[in-house]
Amino acid sequence: MAQTSNSLKKRKKDLTFWQKIYIPEIAKGLALTFKNMIRPKFTMEYPEEKFIPPPSYRGRPVLVLEETGEERCVACGLCSRVCPALAIEVQAAETEREKERYPEKFEINMLRCIFCGLCEEVCPEEAIVMSKDYELAFTNREDAIYGKDKLLTPVSQLQDRIEFLRKYK
Ligand code: SF4
Ligand code: SF4
Repeated sequence: MAQTSNSLKKRKKDLTFWQKIYIPEIAKGLALTFKNMIRPKFTMEYPEEKFIPPPSYRGRPVLVLEETGEERCVACGLCSRVCPALAIEVQAAETEREKERYPEKFEINMLRCIFCGLCEEVCPEEAIVMSKDYELAFTNREDAIYGKDKLLTPVSQLQDRIEFLRKYK
């Protein structure tokens, strides 16, 4: 006990006059507050102000829709196999077109998806890519299962992600 009061006394003695009256320290604190008040803000007023992610961003996975109106996917099923969350269901069917197979049914359960990007990584056709879409809201479980109607996205909207993948994949 005696030792503690001795060390307190020693610390008090160590303080300079200006430290003892606190005023310079208060002024320093206020100066820092005012400096931060006029600095540019990093927070966004979402949803009025939208965040536009960079090409490296991994939003919800989507299927690439070619300019010809056909999906790129050849229904090989690799994405479905690699998906750690078992979120993808693909049903292949034959087609007369050059690629021979297409996904008759392609569904992603967005409640399961963990946005890992593995489906995108394994796809041999660049047919499934991570988009910039992060606005996902559902009112029931059925709505969270995205079929081709919600997944197919024009290639023109995915160009920067595709270029990013070609550069870094
Ligand atoms: S991003 Fe990951 S979890 Fe989501 S569908 Fe693709 S592989 Fe599955
Ligand atoms: S999206 Fe790619 S990996 Fe998945 S089934 Fe289609 S071609 Fe195969």
